Amino acid sequence: MTKKTLKDINVKGKKVLVRVDFNVPMKNGKITDNNRIVGAWDTIKYLQDNDAKIILFSHLGKIKVESDMEKNCLMPVSEELQKFSKAPVHFSHYMQGPVLEQQIADLKEKEILVVQNTRFADIFDKDSKVIVDAKGNAAAKRESKNDPELGKYWASFGDVFVNDAFGTAHRAHASNVGIASNIKESCVGFLVEKELNMLSKAMNNPKRPLVAIVGGAKVSDKINVIENLLKIADKVIIGGGMAFTFYKAMGFEIGKSLLEEDKVDVAKDLIKKGQDKLVLPIDAVETTDFKDVKGDNTKDRNVSPNKMGLDIGQKSIELFNNVIKNAKTVVWNGPMGVFEFENYNKGTIAVCETIANLKDAFTVIGGGDSAAAAIKFGFKDKFTHISTGGGASLTFIEGKALPGVDAISNK
Ligand code: AMP
Repeated sequence: MTKKTLKDINVKGKKVLVRVDFNVPMKNGKITDNNRIVGAWDTIKYLQDNDAKIILFSHLGKIKVESDMEKNCLMPVSEELQKFSKAPVHFSHYMQGPVLEQQIADLKEKEILVVQNTRFADIFDKDSKVIVDAKGNAAAKRESKNDPELGKYWASFGDVFVNDAFGTAHRAHASNVGIASNIKESCVGFLVEKELNMLSKAMNNPKRPLVAIVGGAKVSDKINVIENLLKIADKVIIGGGMAFTFYKAMGFEIGKSLLEEDKVDVAKDLIKKGQDKLVLPIDAVETTDFKDVKGDNTKDRNVSPNKMGLDIGQKSIELFNNVIKNAKTVVWNGPMGVFEFENYNKGTIAVCETIANLKDAFTVIGGGDSAAAAIKFGFKDKFTHISTGGGASLTFIEGKALPGVDAISNK
C-alpha cells in the first residue's frame, strides 16, 4: 500500500475528519439495514481508543429537489451510532455555518459529531440559500462537482482527514478529494484499506488461474472492465443480459432479448481480442414477457424470435462450472440472469455455489447486484471478500485510479 493508512498517523487529541459511507437504506425515517454503520465502526472505534475528536461526513440518498432533504437527514444515523459508542455522539443539522463550527469547537476527545448530509451542498450555496434550476432541480452541486471552496472550508475544520468511504472513492467530490487536497495529512481508513488490499490481491497479484465472471444488464457499462480483464485474467466468463449483444455479434437469433445495437461492433472486437479466453453462454432460459413465470431452456444459442432470454441455460451452467472449478482466484461482477425472479435465478445461484465450493481459492465479488444476489441466496460468508462499492470496485477492475484514494497522502 503506497497510501498512508490509519496506523501511520498520530491522531491523539486531534480533530479528525472522516468521510464514511452512511448511505444506509431508510424507510419512514428508520434505518432498515445498519451494515454500513457496522462497516465504518472499526475506524471510528480506533479513533476513539486513540483519543481523537471525531467529525464524520457522509452523503445519504440523492438530493435532487428541495423536498429530498427531509427524508435524507442523517440524524437517525447518529442515533444508531450512539448504540455503538460509549462516548457521546452529537448531530449537527448543518453541513456548514456558525452552529456547526461551534459544535466542532466544543467537541471533546473520543466524542463524535455527525455532520449533516454532504449532498445538502448540492442544493445550498455557501450562505445556505437554496439554488435550483428552472425545473426545481438542485443546481448548486458544490459537493458532487467538488467545489474547491467547499473542500477548503470543510478541510479547515480538522487536522487530519481519513477516507473510509469506498463506495464513493471512484468519484471526486468535495467531501473526499476536496478535503484531502486541502489538509496537511490524510490516510485511508480500515475499510478502504481492506477493500484495496483484497482487490489488488485479486487483480495485481493473483494466484492463477484467475477466472473473471462478468454479468448484468449492459455491455456498455462494462466494456472497459472486460477489456482490462482480457489482459489480466486467464478466463473471462460473460453472462446476464449483456451476453445477447455478443450472440448478436456472432449472428445468432436473439428474439426480444436485451440488445445494445450500437455495441454489436464492440462485442465483435471483444470476441476477436478474447479468442478462447472469452467464455460465452451456450444456451439460455427464454420466455415471452419480462415476468416471473417458468421459461424454456433453448437448444442452443438461438432464442425464439418472439421470446427473450432471462437466464443462462443448463448447458451454460455446466460449462461455467467447469471453468470456475479450476480457479485459484475468482473476480465476479454482475448476475447471470434476472436473479430477482425466482424462475431466472438458477444461473446466478449455480455460480455462487461453484465459487463457494472452491477449496483454497481467493474469491472476490465486486459489489453491486452480484453482491446483493450472493447475500440474498445465503452465500455471504462463502466468499473471501464482498466489496462494499459497486462503482468503485468496477473502476478498480477496469484498472483505473480511484480519485478518492489518489488524493490521500503517500506513505
Ligand atoms: P448490472 O447493474 O449491470 O450488474 O445489472 C444487473 C441487472 O441485470 C439485474 O437487475 C438483472 O435483473 C439484470 N439482468 C441480468 N440478466 C438479464 C437478462 N438476461 N435480461 C434482462 N436483464 C437481466
